[in-house]
Amino acid sequence: MKLAVLTERRNGETRVAATPETVKKYIGMGLEVAVETGAGVASGFTDAAYAEAGATMAADAATALAGAAIVLKVRAPLGTGEGAVDELSLIPRGALLIGTLGADAAGAATYANLGIEACSMELAPRITRAQSMDVLSSQANLAGYRAVIEGAGAYDKGFPMMMTAAGTVPAANAFIMGAGVAGLQAIATARRLGGRVSATDVRPAAKEEIKSLGASFVGYEDEESKAAQTAGGYAKQLSAEFYAKQAEVVATHIAKQDVVVCTALVQGRRAPILVTAAMVASMKPGSVIVDIASDAGGNCALTKPGELFVTDNGVKVLGYTNWAGRLPAAASALYARNLLTFLSTFWDKEAKAPKLPEDDDIVKGVTLTRGGAVVHPAMKPAA
Ligand code: NAD
Repeated sequence: MKLAVLTERRNGETRVAATPETVKKYIGMGLEVAVETGAGVASGFTDAAYAEAGATMAADAATALAGAAIVLKVRAPLGTGEGAVDELSLIPRGALLIGTLGADAAGAATYANLGIEACSMELAPRITRAQSMDVLSSQANLAGYRAVIEGAGAYDKGFPMMMTAAGTVPAANAFIMGAGVAGLQAIATARRLGGRVSATDVRPAAKEEIKSLGASFVGYEDEESKAAQTAGGYAKQLSAEFYAKQAEVVATHIAKQDVVVCTALVQGRRAPILVTAAMVASMKPGSVIVDIASDAGGNCALTKPGELFVTDNGVKVLGYTNWAGRLPAAASALYARNLLTFLSTFWDKEAKAPKLPEDDDIVKGVTLTRGGAVVHPAMKPAA
């Protein structure tokens, strides 16, 4: 059975879905692995390293995909008119496609029509058994770290307090907005750099987690926020009144901050605006806002997704997207292991083929299409 690994062609994508380490493991599982030439270059994995691991190098996507039963991707394959190569049309009917496909109902219908068995890993339930396949966590962790490193790089003063013969440089005030996986890693990183760290979130559990990492909690709490978490562990969309109260608390705090890292997300929606233009205007020149929620529109009203820009009052707003991809080697290594864990968990050793039980919670969570039909409840066409 052939497994194909493609070069990621979407703009700004630096990661790859398999590394030489995971290729070796797939071969050990009985698979034949084809890797498109250059697939790992942007993340530091050479063609020679893949070949040494046992992969066959394929000169182009068509060669890699010919006869493939399993296709590994980071992002959704390109469709007609999306780029120089129509990857979707090259995927054989019946192939199992695994990636972070970010599909909506129309996207899922396209996979179904092409007979592609699509699994979208960002939809995996956040349960203990799925932890080692949790692509959102592995990537968010790195994004949170990188955000603080880039924030510190853009900040013209130091992060730690430095007492020198020439005088004292004060510690930076760092404020982390959203204390999920990325935010907690950002808190830990900012603390390690020596910043004075505070953080906010709306989920009640987050307050204790913030404090346990040595940061102070800043936030607004009321009856609504006591129920701000969904059964899946995500933050709920809250009322306009709640957001207004939260903004009041944040506004006075943010004016004193040097580096603000925004990580707040509400599943399936545009990221909430937590830093208004007026708040940015209240910040000191030289302050930095790092918005890693930019892929979902951003938490700062002034964020320009994909760009760094400096406001009229001298605040730098880093709105880059794909923050995990800014650490491509680590992000690819973790992502590739997430996919390997998924496939090896649902693997029939005798048949040397995937076995995806329809009643398994993880399989149910990630499966978009099966046998030419959309099966994911959130993406089925309206009855
Ligand atoms: P996320 O990326 O969806 O959101 C990031 C953070 O933003 C969350 O903490 C959320 O509460 C916060 N947020 C949303 N609106 C906000 C607002 N208005 N102000 C401030 N903060 C706001 O979250 P995530 O990092 O993917 O984590 C989601 C949940 O899943 C968490 O509860 C996490 O502990 C849990 N989780 C569980 C597992 C597991 O295996 N059990 C694994 C990973 C994550």
